[in-house]
Amino acid sequence: MISFNLRCAKDHVFEAWFKDGKSYDRQAKQGRVSCPACGDNKIEKAPMAPNIAAGVSRKERGGQAGRAAEFRETLNKLRAEVEKNCDYVGPNFAEEARKIHYKESEQRGIYGEATDQEAKSLEDEGVEFNRIPWPSRTNG
Ligand SMILES: [Zn+2]
Repeated sequence: MISFNLRCAKDHVFEAWFKDGKSYDRQAKQGRVSCPACGDNKIEKAPMAPNIAAGVSRKERGGQAGRAAEFRETLNKLRAEVEKNCDYVGPNFAEEARKIHYKESEQRGIYGEATDQEAKSLEDEGVEFNRIPWPSRTNG
């Protein structure tokens, strides 16, 4: 015995058992297979569900890799932009950012490194800055 997922012309999907594949072909051709929901005898084999599921998961894996690459590209562009437009102040970032905030230093864009502690005290003082995840200069 063999089972097939079958579909009628009105899209009702149902399972039917036959002696073998040839038996299904013969019965379907003679109009002896009918839909249990509507009695239609224009029956065809329905696509198997597992094939559809596999297709979807392959697509999703590709999408995740694509998003990661896109994120790296965005970071690289941002880094190039910052390096072009801002002064590099290295580990003096917190001090310089504070001076600019209190107008003790020239108003300009800067970038550099700050410790978590420095970043937190800048936040507490209301100094505006962004943290960007890229490798520090000393690491190349
Ligand atoms: Zn039907």
